[in-house]
Amino acid sequence: MRKPIIAGNWKMYKTVGDSVATALALKPLVANANHCEVVIAPVFTALKSVADRLEGSNIKVSAQDCAPVAEEGAQTGEVAAFMLRDVGASYVIVGHSERRQFYGETDQIIAQKVQAALGAGLQVILCVGESLDQRNRGIEVQVVAGQLRGCLGGLTASDLDRIIVAYEPIWAIGTGIAATPEQAQEMHGLIRQAFAEKISETGAAHLRILYGGSVKPDNIRGLMSGADIDGVLVGGASLDAGSFAKIVNYNE
Ligand code: PEP
Repeated sequence: MRKPIIAGNWKMYKTVGDSVATALALKPLVANANHCEVVIAPVFTALKSVADRLEGSNIKVSAQDCAPVAEEGAQTGEVAAFMLRDVGASYVIVGHSERRQFYGETDQIIAQKVQAALGAGLQVILCVGESLDQRNRGIEVQVVAGQLRGCLGGLTASDLDRIIVAYEPIWAIGTGIAATPEQAQEMHGLIRQAFAEKISETGAAHLRILYGGSVKPDNIRGLMSGADIDGVLVGGASLDAGSFAKIVNYNE
């Protein structure tokens, strides 16, 4: 019912040439992956070149962020969501913890980005997740539920169809310490419940919830066994085509 999504976030890595080379290396390795949607998110500057070279393949392209305003205008340094569509992106990641931590993005700003992205016809991968301190204090569910409400409150049912939630505990991102399959499944179940209670009861059953945080070829199978785990968002291990392909082809 919920087709899994395996998405690679390349963060601020790779030149245009390196991005195209990795995308072309990945293409044949995942050509038979019909069990999931395959998505890669290169840097802004490489989006068009990568999207052009992947046209007609089963790999879709995502941006890593977008402007909080929908229209073009005097917004130095920003890239509008419709401009991302224009260069071939069909998804955008918003609210990544690195944007929240290093660039001061609040739920309010992220909510504006979600609106702008939906308005441009993009699918949104909304990242949520708690810090280690918040987990140690036992408030991880409240934190994530608050982020969901703050970023998605007020959206219509048809908007919610284009929302994907990525649960990315901050303590697991780039640390090599992934959540265990049990920890991830427990949180995904609670996120689905919180989504049903606070956002949309009918939408919750269809919502795809991805796990992110130190996903590797050797832990993907366990993570994907969780009933509420509908795919993964992969950082470091997506930079190499061979390693990302192993994650995509976890079912082989
Ligand atoms: C990420 O940044 O979205 C991520 C999950 O990174 P990593 O896989 O490297 O932990």
